[in-house]
Amino acid sequence: MNKSSTTPYFPTTLPIGTIGDLLAGCTAMLESEGVEDPQREAREILAAVLDVPKFWAAANSIADASPDVAIAVIRAAMQRAIGAPLAYAVGRASFRHLTIEVDERVLIPRVETEVLVDRVLERCSGDMRRIADIGTGSGAIALSLAFEREFDLVLATDVSVDAIAVASANAASLRTVLKSPVEFRLGSLLSPLAGEMLDVIVSNPPYVSFAELPQLPPDVRDWEPSLALLSPEDGLGATRELVRQAPRYLAADGLLAVEVDTRRAGTVAEMVSVDDRYADVEVLLDLTGRERFVFARRA
Ligand code: SAM
Ligand code: GLN
Repeated sequence: MNKSSTTPYFPTTLPIGTIGDLLAGCTAMLESEGVEDPQREAREILAAVLDVPKFWAAANSIADASPDVAIAVIRAAMQRAIGAPLAYAVGRASFRHLTIEVDERVLIPRVETEVLVDRVLERCSGDMRRIADIGTGSGAIALSLAFEREFDLVLATDVSVDAIAVASANAASLRTVLKSPVEFRLGSLLSPLAGEMLDVIVSNPPYVSFAELPQLPPDVRDWEPSLALLSPEDGLGATRELVRQAPRYLAADGLLAVEVDTRRAGTVAEMVSVDDRYADVEVLLDLTGRERFVFARRA
């Protein structure tokens, strides 16, 4: 769906008494806006807003919809009707074991990045106590690490003030369930970490080239922050700089773990392999079997 600037029409004359009415109203509005499979969409929106399974609306169609629920669902459906990705429309996304609040200021965390966290945790021995997430966005990686393992400190950086604000708000909401302290710092790549020594540096940097922008799906291209997606030098600018800076902050045997564009995994692996500050370079696959992560140890 392309981003549309017109406000969708919601049939406000419809009585919103029950969940069934709400579903019917949203379905009608989405249909009139040309959304494909409007009933499925409406059901998904309702389930996402209420945080219930997708069959819930059908099973509870005669239950009353409170005004708060009706407003939240209608607002989300209107966002969806103008092309917003579901996560932005409902204001949150699932990432591993967490629900992360997201909006247009940050990238919607991806399933491949869930795998990145998995591979990092597999390689983190108990004596690896200090970890940094570079380009934290919503905070998804940093907060998952802090939720799933006890570290002495999880540091997270981003060059976007907006991203630091979203990530900090997520950290505040999750405060009571995190096992590790998390600290956010504003600035480019590793520069906010001057003087720190780390056991792990993990990053999902922007890695789409400017030339590839037109080929991105419209809901990514038109909605997600370009700062989160695009990188100069054929998409490799941020990655190259990260690889250059990281050894200064990594303890001996420390791990660098980077998500990459699947078409450029070989180039990044080569970039790391020719740098004699690194050893044990590995290219790891995502769930679709594509080369998606480059890992290396500080030599
Ligand atoms: N880590 C999050 C995730 O995986 O969902 C967001 C990843 S997004 C692909 C890249 C993030 O890097 C964005 O939040 C963007 O603002 C940030 N970023 C871009 N350039 C940066 C730089 N030079 N230094 C630090 N962060 C940067
Ligand atoms: N995987 C994202 C996408 O193309 C890009 C994220 C990134 O640049 N790190 O949808």
